[in-house]
Amino acid sequence: MTTTDFSTLPLPPAMLANLQSLDYRTMTPIQAESLPHILQGKDMIAQAKTGSGKTAAFGIGLLSQLDVADFSVQALVLCPTRELADQVGKEIRRLARFTHNVKLLSLCGGAPLGPQFESLEHGAHIVVGTPGRVQKHLSKGTLQLDRLKILVLDEADRMLDMGFHDAILSIIATTPKRRQTLLFSATYPGTIKQMSAAIQQQPVSVSVESLH
Ligand code: ADP
Ligand code: MG
Repeated sequence: MTTTDFSTLPLPPAMLANLQSLDYRTMTPIQAESLPHILQGKDMIAQAKTGSGKTAAFGIGLLSQLDVADFSVQALVLCPTRELADQVGKEIRRLARFTHNVKLLSLCGGAPLGPQFESLEHGAHIVVGTPGRVQKHLSKGTLQLDRLKILVLDEADRMLDMGFHDAILSIIATTPKRRQTLLFSATYPGTIKQMSAAIQQQPVSVSVESLH
């Protein structure tokens, strides 16, 4: 059995208070399975259905690693679409309410480049974006990932279905080798196994079949 009380996790009191204020009373099954490992800095493949609370699992994980005094991108979340990236950005902002001065930037295709260039000049701690647009900023030199601590592939199976395999690998090539890599996926096909082998180190696998 896993415990489902957030207070059993090594989280700062401000984060626990914020979770309470969001009415997150207990961890969902995927959060209870994954967060202890995520907070230990381990790589992970996590498989769980839509609506199971995956965003907070990696969101709490990445927020706990941030050094807000360092204005470089320390966390990157790649999502298949702009809509999903917007949802993830919104949820992480909610989770970061009590963590002062966290800057999150959304970098998605379909949005104009100009404002993104401007925002990047001011720096950001967290980037949430789609692979194509993130790759574009890397190639233009407007984004650097050399101080990245944690990389999240959200809905990794969908990103591969959409043809983002090469973009993802070329993005990862610009990140430090010593980083935490979390791979979230609704399904676990061979292509995901191959990607994991290429980008993760001794990942813990967690899988939750049913909704809470
Ligand atoms: P997934 O990415 O697995 O599809 P989401 O991360 O979008 O799921 O979460 C689904 C919904 O559950 C969101 O509205 C989120 O705010 C809510 N949620 C997440 N974790 C908890 C929790 N521990 N307690 C209550 N609600 C939660
Ligand atoms: Mg999700």
